[in-house]
Amino acid sequence: MEDREMHKATCSDCKKECEVPFKPTEGKPVRCQDCFKKNRPERSFGGRDGGNRRFGGNNNRFGNDRPREMHKATCSDCGKACEVPFKPTGDKPVRCRDCFQATRN
Ligand SMILES: [Zn+2]
Ligand SMILES: [Zn+2]
Repeated sequence: MEDREMHKATCSDCKKECEVPFKPTEGKPVRCQDCFKKNRPERSFGGRDGGNRRFGGNNNRFGNDRPREMHKATCSDCGKACEVPFKPTGDKPVRCRDCFQATRN
């Protein structure tokens, strides 16, 4: 395998002198090996800062902030209308929040 021709350049990130295996083009940023590694996206997920931020947003949206679907039900203890975070099946007693807490204690 032939040696690649190296060209002297100045890293546009850290201003360090470096050599790059391609002819530096004016107007295009040249990065030394360190900065190149730093800027290379680690995941194929958008890559740049914006992608990472979007990734974090997704985490939040699918986390605790997601509102639960509530179902209307009638408390089998006190007969009060209430909403429960699960679909009432009919064969299981449904309790409003007050009665649920009362049975837990
Ligand atoms: Zn650099
Ligand atoms: Zn109740």
